[in-house]
Amino acid sequence: MSLTGNSIIAELKASGNLPSPTGIALTILEMSRDPHVNTDELANVLQGDPALTGQLLKYANSAESGSRVQVVALRDALMRLGLAQVRHLCLSFSILANARSGPCDRFEYGRYWTRSLAMAVSCQAISRLVRSLNPDEGFTCGLLAHIGRLALASVYPQEYSEILSRWDRTAPEDLSRLEKSGLGLTHLDATVAILEDWHLPEHVVVAAHHQEDDSWITGAAVEPAAERGRQLARVLYASSLAADICMETGPRRHLMVLDFLKAGLSLGFAEEPWVTMYDGILTEWSRMGSVLNVVTSHVPSLDSLVVHAREQGEVIDDRRRPRPGAGVKAAATAATTVVPVAPAPAAAATPAPAPAPAPTLAPTPVTAAAPATEATVSPVATLQAATADIALDILIASHSPVETTILTRKLKSLGHRVSSAADGRQALEMALRSAPQLILSDWMLPHMDGLELCRTLRSSPQTQGIYFIINTSNDTGEELVQGFDAGINDYLVKPLDHRILAARLRGASQVIGLREQSLRDREAMRRQISQINVLNRKLESLAKEDQLTGLPNRRAGLEFLEETWARGSRTGEPMIVMMMDIDHFKRVNDTWGHDAGDVVLQRTATAMRTAVRDYDRVSRHGGEEFLAICPGADLEVAYSLGDRIRRSVERNVIASDVFNGSITISIGVTVRRMDQASTRDMLHEADEALYAAKEAGRNMVCIHSGPTPEA
Ligand code: GH3
Ligand code: MG
Ligand code: MG
Repeated sequence: MSLTGNSIIAELKASGNLPSPTGIALTILEMSRDPHVNTDELANVLQGDPALTGQLLKYANSAESGSRVQVVALRDALMRLGLAQVRHLCLSFSILANARSGPCDRFEYGRYWTRSLAMAVSCQAISRLVRSLNPDEGFTCGLLAHIGRLALASVYPQEYSEILSRWDRTAPEDLSRLEKSGLGLTHLDATVAILEDWHLPEHVVVAAHHQEDDSWITGAAVEPAAERGRQLARVLYASSLAADICMETGPRRHLMVLDFLKAGLSLGFAEEPWVTMYDGILTEWSRMGSVLNVVTSHVPSLDSLVVHAREQGEVIDDRRRPRPGAGVKAAATAATTVVPVAPAPAAAATPAPAPAPAPTLAPTPVTAAAPATEATVSPVATLQAATADIALDILIASHSPVETTILTRKLKSLGHRVSSAADGRQALEMALRSAPQLILSDWMLPHMDGLELCRTLRSSPQTQGIYFIINTSNDTGEELVQGFDAGINDYLVKPLDHRILAARLRGASQVIGLREQSLRDREAMRRQISQINVLNRKLESLAKEDQLTGLPNRRAGLEFLEETWARGSRTGEPMIVMMMDIDHFKRVNDTWGHDAGDVVLQRTATAMRTAVRDYDRVSRHGGEEFLAICPGADLEVAYSLGDRIRRSVERNVIASDVFNGSITISIGVTVRRMDQASTRDMLHEADEALYAAKEAGRNMVCIHSGPTPEA
């Protein structure tokens, strides 16, 4: 998982638009990597961001975070939450603050956060009930469980918009398929890569990875280390249902309610505590919504929803994928070398970025530059245009209302757009929110002085490029060195001379123009790189796919066989291999034509794929021959699995322009045993069993039972 994760994260980061923490939160993340950092140091830095401080305090006092005594001091809140949780909460809140909107038209940013918050409080409450999980960790895990979707919307806005426009929301599982074919990766791939990059604990990453994978969540026992991840994945799954209930207002809600009750039962909770807990989730959702400024809505209590759902009765859940039909009993097989098994009678049915805004260029070009004609825009002209005077977004940070008024008037008369802050902390907040191009700050400011403000801005990728001019009444060498060390770009000496101010701003606007031009160029290059990466991934998946049937091709099938074999060697997990071949396929070609043969191959491939379990893999091995690898399956299930596939093909009526009717297949099966040296042995035995099935009359499953005992 890590290797792919690394390459995905590298690509997402290269795009430059990945949702990421900024400002004070970023500083906290850096600081909290040091295990020796103390609470006082963290509190000092955190105080620089009043919004974040408020959110942490309110979180620490939330009903679900497990506290009874209210904390008012930030230090106490930090002690209560512990370093790891503070880290994760700063991360979450910072992402939340910075990704309220974005360039992807079809992505509903507001709705995304509303649902994510519902998942966060649900995951927190359920983790609390489960006891073996940490509720604070549950909160961040729930909030970030679908961060990959936000990332894809940020990094590939146009492509993701197109994917969303094709997605039918009543079929959630379709999203991954569309993402995979459009971008070569899914939101879950992106989520895993991001959570790993943010150093979230291993079990959180594992849980996020498998949260939508039914068969993994409910599957057989795993190693104890993975069990914690599995438990969290179960909680995430239940939280997702809880969030669905919060978001859904239509008739499908009662299905979700019944599913949610089932999820509670599978976690070991009776209906009553589960329903009570859910009502707590609703209260907390609305409370945290107001803390974090996320829209929430009124949802009726679960009790009343349950009554309503039961009145409606269990209806077929259209949100779930059709599951392959079960019901074929395993047949015992005799221990001859190859055992043909007669076809069983038919049983259960198988259901069937936009470029950054261009700076407003002032009407007068730089004096030295000759105006370029439209027909011949040389690189020099482009450079000159970029360095022409720009009307700037300027933030004034000054404690003096009089000076602010005079300066504002002057700057506006020069064509700039101006806002102002009366102290350092306010200036920081405004800068984080609206990212001005230039800050004109006094040295001395209440709450946070000009230098500290500058230092803090430089620590965040979002604000580190802001041109910073400091106004000082003391231009002794020592102070200025201190200023430049803190990251200022320029200084002005008080009282300000307006002619010097105008001249300095002209210089600044040229630097800013060049910087923005280079950012735009970089952005264009990043976009190209992203597109190349998407193409590469698509090529890679094409190289593993059979073009006619859409199944994995021979190479991919054999790779999966090797992986399954290697895992089995480590864990002792059993496996079976099936070789499947269409009966008398030549006749189809001869009678109906080659095109008909192709249609038959496609439909047969689909029938096989839907007949196997989620974790089995069917590939096209060659011509009209297919390979199925079934991890975890042993002799007990070998026959029932094989026969399920055989019957599903036999009963699959193919109706098309070029072919009408049905066909049959023969299957040779082999089970992994100690005496097999490699996958080649398994393939060879499956082939032998297939040959026996053909010999015995076709439309049949034969199981290879190992070497003939020595006489
Ligand atoms: P058996 O029951 O013994 O397997 O008989 P069969 O006719 O299925 O087997 P045979 O190996 O004699 O014929 C397989 C045919 O499959 C021959 C080949 O032309 C055809 N074939 C292989 N690949 C394709 C394909 O991609 N499209 C079509 N239409 N035919 C294919
Ligand atoms: Mg054949
Ligand atoms: Mg063949």
